[in-house]
Amino acid sequence: MRRALIVVDVQNDFCEGGSLGVKGGGHVAREVAQLMRRLRQQERGAPDYAYAVATKDHHIDPGEGHWSADPDYVSTWPVHCEVGTEGEEFHPAIEGELFDAIFLKGKHSAAYSGFEGSTEDGVALGEWLRTHHVSEVDVCGIATDHCVRATALDAVRAGFSTRVLTSLCAGVAPGTTQAALVEMDEAGVRVD
Ligand SMILES: [Zn+2]
Repeated sequence: MRRALIVVDVQNDFCEGGSLGVKGGGHVAREVAQLMRRLRQQERGAPDYAYAVATKDHHIDPGEGHWSADPDYVSTWPVHCEVGTEGEEFHPAIEGELFDAIFLKGKHSAAYSGFEGSTEDGVALGEWLRTHHVSEVDVCGIATDHCVRATALDAVRAGFSTRVLTSLCAGVAPGTTQAALVEMDEAGVRVD
């Protein structure tokens, strides 16, 4: 029984000052960074994760269904996480090299779930977790009501014992965040 931490989209564009900045994003980045340091130093009392992986929204051209000049902030968004821009990079607190793998999603489409992502070598998240004998996942990151939600729902549907760490998440809006937590709970995700 191995457990992995999945850190969703802790990228500059999703933190304060980014093109799609989420309030609390920078706080999540700093808290996740601290957790990663504790894991890597194998600090006593640090959570017992066999692996820690990250996802990134990684758009070349996701099309007008995702990027919009007139976004509704429900299913269309300002231009964000464009490959080659600072906005696509991890928040400066996050040391990308500490992750065991990074899964890129959404090159030419909208992609909310980390399970739509794959490594540079083309290994999808679900496949990677199974290859590494992971059966439990903890999900955190940005945004609770969108990519964290989609990733956690896909994880539980794929048969992983799934928990969402709300203290390490930030949501776009209170209403959709609350609805996402209820939906995840009803789907069998443990909301912590
Ligand atoms: Zn996107």
